Amino acid sequence: MTDHDEARSNRVARVVEAGLCHSCGACQAICPAEAICFRETVGGHFYPVVDEGLCTHCGRCRAVCSGIAANTALSRVLPPDPFRGVCLDSWIGRSDDAMVFAGAQSGGVVSQLLVDLLESEQVDACAVVRMVPGNPPRPTAFLARSKQEILEAQKSKYCPVPVLAVLRKIGQANHRIAMVGLACHFHGLSLIEDVDVDLASVVDLKIGLICDRTLTLAAVDCLLEKASHRGKSAQLVFRDRPRTGYPGDVTVQDESGDVSVLPKSERMAIKDVFTPARCRLCFDKMNVLADLTIGDPWGIDGADSDHGESVVIVRTERGRSAVGRGLNNVSLSLRPVDYEQVLVGQKIGTKRADWRAYCGAWHAMGEQLPEFYGRVVPHAPVTKGLTGMHRRQLERDRALDTHESREAVLRDARRATTAGRLRHYLIRGLGVARRLIWRVAKPRGEKGNSVD
Ligand SMILES: Cc1cc2nc3c(=O)[nH]c(=O)nc-3n(C[C@H](O)[C@H](O)[C@H](O)COP(=O)(O)OP(=O)(O)OC[C@H]3O[C@@H](n4cnc5c(N)ncnc54)[C@H](O)[C@@H]3O)c2cc1C
Ligand code: SF4
Ligand code: SF4
Ligand code: SF4
Repeated sequence: MTDHDEARSNRVARVVEAGLCHSCGACQAICPAEAICFRETVGGHFYPVVDEGLCTHCGRCRAVCSGIAANTALSRVLPPDPFRGVCLDSWIGRSDDAMVFAGAQSGGVVSQLLVDLLESEQVDACAVVRMVPGNPPRPTAFLARSKQEILEAQKSKYCPVPVLAVLRKIGQANHRIAMVGLACHFHGLSLIEDVDVDLASVVDLKIGLICDRTLTLAAVDCLLEKASHRGKSAQLVFRDRPRTGYPGDVTVQDESGDVSVLPKSERMAIKDVFTPARCRLCFDKMNVLADLTIGDPWGIDGADSDHGESVVIVRTERGRSAVGRGLNNVSLSLRPVDYEQVLVGQKIGTKRADWRAYCGAWHAMGEQLPEFYGRVVPHAPVTKGLTGMHRRQLERDRALDTHESREAVLRDARRATTAGRLRHYLIRGLGVARRLIWRVAKPRGEKGNSVD
């Protein structure tokens, strides 16, 4: 190891190089020298960069990094089955506040809980994410201190956001906050707890979102291009439920207020092109370290799929009392739902097998796996024949940052989505043909059977 390598080894540059950074912001929150900032790469990843002039090589950023999880601290806090977590109660429903429900992604339960916590002075602020309009629009995490600010942050931003970085701005002055985060944010928070318990204990309630993946920030530019708004100041909403109904199409609004709508299929078509490899290596789609996990009611019998509802999984007593407050204040309408149905609706069985296949492919590419692999792998079955496709998807993400410009990334995305669409229609066509042949052949078979 050269002196230069040695100097870098205890810092987050290695995590980024290894393709394992999930942009949680823990390193920036913990750095005593304020030596870390985040920069967008050509492929749209949002990665930490260390200022060599300020860094004191203390190693704290690496110690709290759950991207690589270089020690066993994360493995130790995981529940027995890390794909499903602990479930005390599970609910489905919505906010009863017309304003909160109107602007929400699903049932508005996340924002209603935050409004209740602020108004009852249980917390001083809430860490949330808003999309800042501009050229281009980009998401940012901030501390909301009023209902108005909670409303401004509603709806999902399918992008990397270093939410934990907001802890830097708080100081230690007996502040209590609620944090809305993805599983990777709460993995980072749990490691911060090991290094600086005072900083971590500022977070009084962890409201987790179910999360299958984010998309790199280049996906935002790709959608703007599809809406002919690239290069102009605009606002983008990934799933504009208020304007287009549940679950929601993409909308782009220009400075004069004109709105273009892109059907949901346009977002779905680019998902595989812009999914970070690190999300493929993430087992925790159900956000098992949160106090509450909230998501869409996919696959739930009787869910209101016309207007939208949220599913709520209560994982801790702290989470239980937040939901109880909402039910007592009559700000939430919730009914029980079977957690097994939630897991089936979120396809957790398939996601276990996929996770294992992605990890297998990553390892075969000569890449480093995070430390938690050994702790999680007994809960993920081996499924034959998956790794070829899985490897191609990981390689696609690894190649994103090798393009010479954002234009080249978007050009490549256009080619890949056209090829993907053709493949999709071909597979559908083959399916239809197979069903037709089966239908024609079946009556003969049935006749034969009845004669037998
Ligand atoms: C990246 C991502 C992936 C998701 N994947 C799934 C999935 O696979 N299955 C599923 O059922 N649900 C998923 N969700 C959750 C779902 O989209 C809704 O966010 C959830 O149902 C809550 O809806 P709500 O109406 O209660 O929230 P709202 O009242 O609309 O509030 C949403 C809250 O989420 C916060 N938020 C938005 N984007 C981010 C972000 N990137 N990081 C941290 N906080 C954010 C906002 O600040 C706001 O406080 C995902 C969400 C995100 C952000
Ligand atoms: S090693 Fe220490 S000073 Fe350097 S970037 Fe990491 S946390 Fe900051
Ligand atoms: S702490 Fe989070 S943001 Fe920093 S390098 Fe690790 S995964 Fe990336
Ligand atoms: S899939 Fe995992 S790593 Fe990726 S954004 Fe979601 S929680 Fe974070």
